[in-house]
Amino acid sequence: MKIALVGIGKIALDQHVPALNASPDWEIAATVSRSGTVPGVEAFTRIEDMLAARPDIGVVSLALPPVPRFAVAEAALSAGRHVMLEKPPAASLAEIHALERLATGQGVSLYTSWHSREAAGVAAVKAWLKDKTVKSGHITWREDVRKWHRGQDWIFEAGGMGVFDPGINALSILTEILPMPVHLSGAELDFPCNRSAPIAARLRFAQGITADFDFRQEGPQIWDMEFATDKGDIALRTGGNLLEINGKQAGGENTIMGEYPALYAKMARLVEAGLSDIDLRPMVLVADAFTLGQRNRVAAFDF
Ligand code: NAP
Repeated sequence: MKIALVGIGKIALDQHVPALNASPDWEIAATVSRSGTVPGVEAFTRIEDMLAARPDIGVVSLALPPVPRFAVAEAALSAGRHVMLEKPPAASLAEIHALERLATGQGVSLYTSWHSREAAGVAAVKAWLKDKTVKSGHITWREDVRKWHRGQDWIFEAGGMGVFDPGINALSILTEILPMPVHLSGAELDFPCNRSAPIAARLRFAQGITADFDFRQEGPQIWDMEFATDKGDIALRTGGNLLEINGKQAGGENTIMGEYPALYAKMARLVEAGLSDIDLRPMVLVADAFTLGQRNRVAAFDF
């Protein structure tokens, strides 16, 4: 199937393009980006121009930041194209509800992808937890924003979500693996005094789980989650990739290179089956953190 990739920046070049080029399902037939391009692929700078010029392209994948994503997704769905969205799927819940209604009305597929759910240890942890009672848990998601997002000012603008840009990956894993639903009972958000989005957040869930997200981590980067259950302890480390049961390594693999191939294989199946996959649970937790969270003003942040 022919696909157009929109927003040719860091993640498009690091993951989307290699995954699409290696896939038997897809051909990158066009890009849409104000300056980014992919060698050998027809490049457009406006979505409207691509949609008008290339009626043969049935699927559009959006790797833009969340705020500009809605208008592009709306245009693609309105033109009868199937749409795949990077995480977080939009800047607000209402935007996704609107896109869902549009996709349903147009009879096309909409996929809110969550790449961290495809990490190497996630399915095994989900299977292990299935018949356990989770007593408590803690998520530590601490990374250096200067290392991973240098110069991406959009992350600290309104709608950029700040530390929830990586933190929502942890929440996408959490909502996938737990055998019960979770909801937030409280949060504390640290906003740099010169920014509109938090640089750190501490969350409490009603089910005895806590989370510590921080963008100011120097030294070792930590993307871990640990759970105590009625039948032992389990941990997922390095962003959902390594699995530990009762303190001993029990599987997984320390790489993220399998995540995007799995997402695009899933998108191909959705389009073929005429289905959508829209899961807003991670976004609901982030929205509730902004609603419930106590706000602290902390030191100014500059890249
Ligand atoms: P990015 O490189 O800053 O942005 C991607 C591209 O989107 C930019 O190169 C730019 O291309 C276009 N863009 C940026 N701001 C725009 C705006 N206001 N209006 C229109 N186009 C704009 O960001 P990224 O790191 O690739 O992240 C994009 C999305 O992928 C985010 O939702 C992020 O959460 C997700 N993601 C990122 C990573 C990662 O490691 N960085 C990992 C997984 C998922 P043009 O200037 O050419 O238009």
